[in-house]
Amino acid sequence: MVLACGLGALLALAGAVGGAAAAERTVVGHSVQGRPIVAVRNGEPSAPERVLVIGCVHGNEAAGMRVARRLIGAAPLLDAALWIVPTLNPDGVAADTRGNAHGVDLNRNFPFGWRPLDGLEYSGTGALSEPESRAARRLILGIRPDVTIWFHQPLDLVDRSGGDAAIERRFAQLVGLPLVELSRYPGSASSWQNHALPASTAFVVELPSAVGAGLVARATAAVRALAGEYGSPGIGPAIPILGTFP
Ligand SMILES: [Zn+2]
Repeated sequence: MVLACGLGALLALAGAVGGAAAAERTVVGHSVQGRPIVAVRNGEPSAPERVLVIGCVHGNEAAGMRVARRLIGAAPLLDAALWIVPTLNPDGVAADTRGNAHGVDLNRNFPFGWRPLDGLEYSGTGALSEPESRAARRLILGIRPDVTIWFHQPLDLVDRSGGDAAIERRFAQLVGLPLVELSRYPGSASSWQNHALPASTAFVVELPSAVGAGLVARATAAVRALAGEYGSPGIGPAIPILGTFP
């Protein structure tokens, strides 16, 4: 089973201790066009806190990838492991499109509140119809991050996304953006996470359309500071993965 092997490798990676390199790169899936979807762990896998950063999900909103690269290159944190996915949508980045190569808005393709949508927000033929969404789900259920940050553009705010408001508010303070509640979009990744893993928090950061080096540095520092402050070791058993996977 491809799934079992991939998941086993992921969990082995997450469980490696003592002497393991602080940073590990793994391919967590492939896009519609076969591009690898890469996750990099920066920090010891045994760290009590796990923070996942998705630099880009809409391919034409790629500024968060610069934050992701800075996080990958930074020194490991002492008490938190950062998991960094520069882009969940490499085909969309290559084509400068919002959706993946099927034209699917991946942030409408997750299995919570999914419904058919057309146009720019085309949600696919069903929840998790896309390999990129399935890779994200597999990664998230494998590592169970305490906090997940999804970067988007261009609204220049932190979205009150439905997780722990104190964490969202703190990140907004750290990065210097207002905390605003946008719509809870059907099939969005953060809504699915906040529903499926209620002890964790997932939220959206909307960078502005033009992102300078100062903001990239501030966002990088904000992620690292938040990771140092928050997290909840022992958030409970993993949600069963096998058997519900399409
Ligand atoms: Zn977006």
